[in-house]
Amino acid sequence: MRVLYKHFRGAFKTWRTLFQDASDFATEVGPERLVSISHSEHGIEGVVSVWYWGEPEVCHKCGYNLTGNESGVCPECGTKISWTPS
Ligand SMILES: [Zn+2]
Repeated sequence: MRVLYKHFRGAFKTWRTLFQDASDFATEVGPERLVSISHSEHGIEGVVSVWYWGEPEVCHKCGYNLTGNESGVCPECGTKISWTPS
């Protein structure tokens, strides 16, 4: 399981718009997977970065491939998928 990130950036957007986009995405990611949100400037652009835990690739119990799983439960063995690092 890896930490992923998503950038929200733009020279023609305001900080408010970037933060709003980032917070919408962070809400979608959810509190269990969110790591942190940071911001910086890149030249004339504002950049807001959302850091979050990516989906586990395989079930930690049975090894079933969970790519694209959205139910939160392993279809093979019924284990609840944990988003937090173990
Ligand atoms: Zn499983």
